[in-house]
Amino acid sequence: MKSSTSVRVRFAPSPTGYLHVGGARTALFNYLYACHKRGRFLLRIEDTDKKRSDPQLTKSIFDSLKWLGLSWDESPLYQSQRQQRHKDICRELLESGNAYRCFCKPEDLEKKRKSARTQGVDAKYNCNCYNLSKKKIQSNLQRNSPFTLRFRVPQGETKFYDMIHGCISVRHNEIEDFIIQRSDGSPVYQIAVITDDHDMGITHILRGDDHLSNTPKQILLYQALGWDLPEFGHVPLIFGPDKKRLSKRHGATSVETYRDQGILPEALINFLALLGWSPGNDREIMDMNTLIKLFSLDKISQKPAVFDFQKLEWMNSVYISDMNNGLLIEYLHKKLLELGWISISVNEDQTSYLNQILDLLKPRMKMLNDFIDQADYFFQNPDYYEEKAVQKYWSEPDTKNRMALLQKKLKQCSEWDKSSLEPFIRNAAEEINVGAGKLIHPLRLAITGRGASPGLFEVMALLGKDIVLARLKRAIRWLDDQIYAE
Ligand code: GLU
Repeated sequence: MKSSTSVRVRFAPSPTGYLHVGGARTALFNYLYACHKRGRFLLRIEDTDKKRSDPQLTKSIFDSLKWLGLSWDESPLYQSQRQQRHKDICRELLESGNAYRCFCKPEDLEKKRKSARTQGVDAKYNCNCYNLSKKKIQSNLQRNSPFTLRFRVPQGETKFYDMIHGCISVRHNEIEDFIIQRSDGSPVYQIAVITDDHDMGITHILRGDDHLSNTPKQILLYQALGWDLPEFGHVPLIFGPDKKRLSKRHGATSVETYRDQGILPEALINFLALLGWSPGNDREIMDMNTLIKLFSLDKISQKPAVFDFQKLEWMNSVYISDMNNGLLIEYLHKKLLELGWISISVNEDQTSYLNQILDLLKPRMKMLNDFIDQADYFFQNPDYYEEKAVQKYWSEPDTKNRMALLQKKLKQCSEWDKSSLEPFIRNAAEEINVGAGKLIHPLRLAITGRGASPGLFEVMALLGKDIVLARLKRAIRWLDDQIYAE
């Protein structure tokens, strides 16, 4: 797929939850950028938080990425396996004087912060450990006093160019001497990220806006270590319709849930690509290859994107109606098997039957699962008649007689295809002097158990004469029972 040139990007999820659609969009933008530039798209599992990380979630993230078609290059890197390297980097920063030991007790620091806050002054970290004498440090170490390592933020200002937000500058007096290694010896997130990005040879860091505030600190670390800086680009967050950060309150947020609801991966990819990016015209339906061709960072919006579920549904329906039946059957296969609607090895007749059903239902499907909800009567007798439809179409006293008459007539019908059935039923309606609707709707209900379906004559043709007559007989019996019950 990709030849190795200079661009190397990465997606770095923390396996503390399923793949969120926001994460999937970040992964997609990285993937599109890598493919567009013929670079590499790498994966890093940020699993240093042992309590919150779960290998099952790592697996589900892999599965979701694969399902979306976002295949990665090289083996994924597990951050938890690199703690020694991260510690070595902290040591290097300490030895070069870019970091220092801070012996302050957390509770003392908290007290200082509180009193600063009550005095209304900046509540930044503030202690004198940055210039402890060598002697003092030695005596603290001899006493085994616990310490953290803090980065010595130099004076001045950090300016960088964000590929999405443009020039950003942060004055260093707004950045405290932040901790890089905790008193238990574990390096912090910033160290793990910069070290891994450096060692993985990452050239472009494309990630969520929520990491923008980490960037100046990370740049300071790169500089202190004498490493080349990657390019940074921060993608705006995804909002719900109420313009608040997308969360479970708004509905499903994980890729898995959308998959289970019957969204096609192709549709989700297309939808996610347009959350905050557009090719610069009104074009909306684009497959992966087109996205790769058109993708560029300068068309990513600086404003948060709104997740519009109805649009996703619409897009899914477009993909379903354009998709070839073979692929749709593949997607539906497991469910169809579970329901006993197909056998393990689908034979030619079954395939042709499924194809014809799909041709009828595709234009009516928004989600893949709509097939399951709508196609039952093609595989089994309706197990109930929709109550509303019964009231609407079967409440006239003549219904049963009309159905019985129709049954008699249909038995005589010799041509059982759509174009013969239609005039046949319309003629029957004329003969008994009722509008065609008086036969068509009750008949649909008898055959499908529903008030709505694809064109009745197509459905009848596909089900075949025997089944249609048997279902009419059942419906007449049911209507009889109702009369008896009254
Ligand atoms: N693990 C971080 C997250 O899930 C990503 C860190 C990064 O991209 O630099 O938000």
